This record gives sequence, C-alpha cells and structure tokens, in this order.
Amino acid sequence: MNRTGVLVDVLVIGAGPAGLALAARLAGAGAGRVEVLEREQEAGGVPRHCHHRGFGRPPRPWLRGPAYARQLVEAAVGAGAVVRTGVTATGWAGPLCLETTGPGGLERITARAVVLATGARERPRSARLVPGSRPAGVLTTGELQQSVHLYGQSVGRRAVVVGAEPVARHAVRTLRRAGAEVVAVVTDRSRGVAPAGAPLLTNTTVAQLRGRGRLSGVAVRHEDGRTGVLACDTVVFTGDWIPDHELARRGGVALDPGTRGPCVDASFRTKAPGVFAVGNTLHGIERAATAAAEGAAAATPVLARLAGAPWPDAGPPLVVRAPLVWVVPNRVTDATGGAGRPLLLRSGTPLNGTVVTVRQDGRRLWRGWFPGPVSPSRSLWLPPSSTHRVDRAGGPVVMGLA
Ligand SMILES: Cc1cc2nc3c(=O)[nH]c(=O)nc-3n(C[C@H](O)[C@H](O)[C@H](O)COP(=O)(O)OP(=O)(O)OC[C@H]3O[C@@H](n4cnc5c(N)ncnc54)[C@H](O)[C@@H]3O)c2cc1C
Repeated sequence: MNRTGVLVDVLVIGAGPAGLALAARLAGAGAGRVEVLEREQEAGGVPRHCHHRGFGRPPRPWLRGPAYARQLVEAAVGAGAVVRTGVTATGWAGPLCLETTGPGGLERITARAVVLATGARERPRSARLVPGSRPAGVLTTGELQQSVHLYGQSVGRRAVVVGAEPVARHAVRTLRRAGAEVVAVVTDRSRGVAPAGAPLLTNTTVAQLRGRGRLSGVAVRHEDGRTGVLACDTVVFTGDWIPDHELARRGGVALDPGTRGPCVDASFRTKAPGVFAVGNTLHGIERAATAAAEGAAAATPVLARLAGAPWPDAGPPLVVRAPLVWVVPNRVTDATGGAGRPLLLRSGTPLNGTVVTVRQDGRRLWRGWFPGPVSPSRSLWLPPSSTHRVDRAGGPVVMGLA
C-alpha cells in the first residue's frame, strides 16, 4: 500500500518520554489529531529496556523503566493521541511533510506542526575509531539491555565495560544479571564510577579489539605508557551520547555545534518554521523526567503555533567558553524565557564551587554560584531568568566561568 496525503495537526517523531508527554498534553488540550510515530514495535523509548528502579519523580516511588514507559503510553493514548508503532520517519517530502515506512507501507504525512523527539544514542565502536578486528560481542549499553531484557539473549562470559559515566553501572548490572563476569571498567578519565567488585582502570584507553569471529580480548594503554590485554568475549561501550539527529539533518534543520542536536530557542522551536524538538535529541542523556518535562512544556508553544503565532527570527546565539561544552537552549528569541524550562549547561571537565556568568556585548547579565562538585556527565541547571536581560538585537550571549 502506498498512502499519500495524510494530514494531521501535530506529528511527533519518537514515542519516548519526551514525545509521549508532549502528545498527552497536546491531545488533552484539544490540539486536534496528534499522531506519534515510533519505529520500535512498542512505544516507551529507552525506559522499556531499563529494568532497574529510578524512573519517575519524587515524592512518588521510583518505578522500573517498563512500568514508567507503560504509564506514559497510557497517558498519551488516554488523552486521545494516536501512537503508531513499527513506523519509521525516513525523510522529508516538504517543510512539514514526513516520509514514513511501516507495516502499512509508505506514507507521506503532512502536519501543521512537527516535533522531533528522537532521543539520543551512545556512540558505537565505529564512531569512536577503535582499531582492530570486527568480531561479535561488541555492544553499546542500549544494545546490551535490549539483548538481555527484550530478547532474552545471552551476552558472553567475561566482559569489559568502556566508560565510567553513571550509565556504566547499568551496563555492569545487566551483564551480571545475564551471567557474565565484569573483568574491568575502563575510562580515559582520572575518575569514574564502577559498582563494587568491578575493577576500575582510570587514565586508560582502549587501543585495539582482538579476535576473529568472537571477541577474544581488549588491548589497553595506560597514561604512563604501560600496555596490556584484557581477555574477554564481550565489550560494552557506554556513555558518549550523541543526539539522534539524522532526521533533523535530512530535513535541513540547523544543528547546534555544541550539542549536535537541533538548534532550539527556549520554546523548543528549531530554525525551521513549524518544527520543534524536545528531549534527549537536544542534548544527549538526561533523566527521563527531564525529557518528559521538556515535552510537556513544549505543548504551550506548539498550541500557539497551531493558533497562528508567528515564528520568531533566530535571535542571538547562546555560546559557551571552555571548559563548558554546550548549553540548551541554543539561542534567545523570547524576552520572557520561552516555555519556562531551566537552561541545561554542561562542562567538559569536573568542576567544584562553580561560578557561571552570562555576558553579552561586554555586559554581565547574570551570575550564579553552584556549590559542590560538578561532573561532566551531569548538567547544571540555570534559571530561565539567567537570559531575561538579553538584548535580542545584540551579539552572541556568552556563558563562561568567572
Ligand atoms: C541504561 C540507561 C539507564 C537509564 N536510567 C535512568 C533512570 O534510572 N532514571 C531516569 O530518569 N532516566 C534514566 N535514563 C535516561 C532516560 O531513559 C532518557 O532520558 C529518556 O528515555 C529520554 O527520553 P526521550 O523521549 O528524549 O528519548 P528516547 O527514550 O530515546 O525515545 C526516543 C524514541 O524515538 C524513536 N525514534 C527515533 N528516531 C525515529 C524515527 N526516525 N522514526 C520513528 N521513531 C524514531 C526511538 O525508537 C525511541 O523510542 C537511562 C538511560 C539509559 C540508556
């Protein structure tokens, strides 16, 4: 079947926490036909294959990922949104017209507003330019969790985990649950997290993958020049998140050079009129509640768009000075702070007792102090008021450390 010319009010791409929370809000507000497309056979996004507790928001008890995902799906469908699984948005046939493929064949869906909620993924081994052979047994955390929790597959007997961001803990737990011994957690940083019993090798890089057919070992190099080989049949590359931005790129939606996700203002508007973006596709991994809150907050500007609100000019960009690596949103168009979400700011190095400044054209507009340590795998939250004094006709807005 080849259906063309389908028309909806809002088309949301991705049924993770961000897309589902937005769809629930929009459908509940009477936005017309709100359709959510999900390429997987089941809606819910990453939480579907995260079997640990830790989802939701206090004071409610933490939920396991699948229960949290079910809640979000039920809320969206209960509000009247249409969630279609097994349907992938593959490209654009026009500024607000998506090409899709699914069980019903090819479609072209035109919407009055399109929302990209495609999430983020861990950079796979190929993108990390790790030399060596191409054996079986090389995974990311997402692939590991799907193999174990969704498909019940075995993963090997001895595993090395690469990266020591918080997500590495989940990789270790999943490996153990699948019966594998964790030989080491390897990170090129000087610090990292590793669960009890998993040896942590800091200042260490993966130099080569070895093995034909199946992985037989990982060659490592320590900062002081020592080298060695960790015998293993499985390696899991964790962290190092990259927004799933392929669809945005295909549609010519401008990306931010820092996040490499769609460049948005504080109302989640991209530079393409009628196209919004929410959730981890904007910034890589944050908590699910953060992604869902972004989705819910985007409902107001999406409804405004449906009601005919004009699409604003690009406005001055938000840029960061090292060691800061990115900030979301990426530009300022509203004097009032847009959808009212905090700004997320990320450092590339560990910090302590951090003072952040916001400047424009030599003027200091805002200054904030953040006591305690800041990790490169966690964002600082700046209040929306940190950009209220930005001159929208002025130059770039620069965020730096005092
Ligand atoms: C191992 C791990 C453990 C975690 N633990 C926690 C935790 O304990 N607590 C917590 O709060 N958060 C946790 N998180 C983070 C949380 O899962 C994410 O922040 C959240 O899922 C992000 O939601 P999202 O909607 O932005 O993206 P996603 O959940 O990634 O959803 C995006 C969806 O878009 C779909 N999609 C992408 N492209 C297309 C396309 N072209 N067409 C159709 N569909 C498409 C994808 O299939 C996916 O389902 C964890 C994450 C991981 C990886």
